[in-house]
Order: sequence, then C-alpha cells, then structure tokens
Amino acid sequence: MRAELRERASARKFVMLGSQQQSLQKLGDGVYAWIGAGGDSNAAAIETSDGLLVIDAQQNQRLARSFRHALETTTGRPIGQLINTHFHLDHTAGNIVFADVAIVAHSRTRQAMQTYLGPSESGSWTVSDTDDKLRLFFGSNIRDLVPPGDPSEAWFLKRVSGPDYDSIALRGPSETFEDRLAFHLTRDTLHAEYWGPAHCDGDLIVHLEKQKIAFLGDLFFFGRFPWFGDCDLDGWIERLDRILTMDILTVVPGHGPVAALRDVAEFRGLLRAVRDAVAAAIKAGASEDAAAHEVQVARYADMPRYREWMPFNVRSTYRYLKSR
Ligand SMILES: [Zn+2]
Repeated sequence: MRAELRERASARKFVMLGSQQQSLQKLGDGVYAWIGAGGDSNAAAIETSDGLLVIDAQQNQRLARSFRHALETTTGRPIGQLINTHFHLDHTAGNIVFADVAIVAHSRTRQAMQTYLGPSESGSWTVSDTDDKLRLFFGSNIRDLVPPGDPSEAWFLKRVSGPDYDSIALRGPSETFEDRLAFHLTRDTLHAEYWGPAHCDGDLIVHLEKQKIAFLGDLFFFGRFPWFGDCDLDGWIERLDRILTMDILTVVPGHGPVAALRDVAEFRGLLRAVRDAVAAAIKAGASEDAAAHEVQVARYADMPRYREWMPFNVRSTYRYLKSR
C-alpha cells in the first residue's frame, strides 16, 4: 500500500513537470492513465483477462496510435475493447485506430453521431465538413454561439483544421447500453453508468470499485477552464454532487493531470460560480450581449482557455437559465 502511494505521488510530480509531453502513468494494479500534453484529452486502460479495456481514444489518429503503441509495449497485452465516455471528437476521433475491437458507449453517444452525420451502414463516417467538425467537438449549438463571421470564429476554425483534422475517419460505437454496465474483472469490477445529461448528453461515469479509481471524461476538467457548449449545467453540477459522495481515491479527468475528489469539488465550485454570476446578471436585467462582455469570475481568470471560452460559456449559461 505504501509503495502504491509513493507511485501515485511520483506520477503526479511527473505530470506537473512533464505536461508538455503525453505520458502513460500506472495508477494501480493493471490500471493506466494516458495524460494528454498541455491539457489535451486523456485516456486510460485496464488490464483484464480478455485484454486491455481502453477508456477513450484521443483526438486524432496520430495520438491514438501513440497511445495504443505505449499500451501494447508497456503491458505486452492485446487490446480487448474500447469504451467512449462521450461523443466529442477530442475523445473519439481516434476510435478508428481501435476499429478491430468492440467499441462500447451510451446509446446517446451513437445517436449524437448519427444525428450530426446521418445513418451509416458501415458504422463509420468521413467527417470533412467544418460545421460537422465544430458540432462534434463543441456541441449542437456551436454555430449559435459562434456564428460564421464572428470575430472569435478564427480560434474555433483553427482548432478543427490542420493535417490531423482535414478529413476525420470516425468509427462509431459498435455496442451501446442505456443505464449501466459492469465488467467483472479478476480482482475488481469496472462500472460504467449514465446518470443523465451533463457536460453533453451521453457522459459516462466509469469507476473501478475496489481500487477506487474514477474515469470521469469531460465531467471533470482539471487545470483547464471547461467548455460549456450545449451542456445541461444543473445536470452537470448534480452529477458532480453524486460523484462527491462516492468512495474514490483517484480521479482521471477528461483533461489535465490525475487528481483526487477534492479537485472535483473545486471544479464543481467553478461551475456554480459561473452559473451564479450569470444568474446575477440576468436578475440585474443585463442583456445576453452585455453579460457576455461583462460577466467575469476573477478566481478562474488565469486558467488556460478562460479568455477564449468564458464569453461563450456566459452566453450558453444565459440561454440555459433563461429557458428554465
Ligand atoms: Zn474533451
């Protein structure tokens, strides 16, 4: 146990020092986290008797191949299956690198892909239209939040362009479920559960019961300001309320270094702070434009992505609160 704690402590130090380089970190008995460089999306894997059970697939094929190679060479085990925590492309564009195994997700994850891209008999799509890419990265309302020609559009267009994103071969889930799924492993049980809309619709809460490790996808951003997009903000906060009642020692966020439940509580505070600041602006009679320009939450203003994303998160929250 003491050795395990030491290992966890040194892993955390490595991430803090080496965050410009993605890295595979051992979190426990046959449990690995792949931490993206500079806050890019994370992934994870668990050794099972049927091979590696992988959680999320990276934001492009190049990173997905690096992740798969690191897993296979470090563990000497084949890939068994992949779980998608949600549909956003920064977690699913690498699915195609795992197309030789079953890809499991909530039914709403597959539904989202089908809604945006149309039905697919092969189970795969080629995503090359800019608006499709934007919706799959940032949510259904991205073009309402960032209309074509908006001065802030350039940042978003740059995010979905470049050689890795010109044409994305997207592999959809091959198996879906509704409420919960349990994987009975030799010495532990992995649970994947859907508790309702939150950061997007289809977010899974994945956790290892005995080792007390949770994989939260984009329900939790650590060290980076989150994107709200078309989230259900109250639902998101409620999912975090429930996660905070769980017996969890280690948390793998969707973005950022390996963390603990106290960091999830801090993140819930961030969501509440943005919601409360926008609610106060609405109460004071501010228009959406005025709120987008004026509402700030100083405590988080130095976080990466705050400057680029806060005005849109305010707009998203304003519309969300007005519609309730
Ligand atoms: Zn993400």
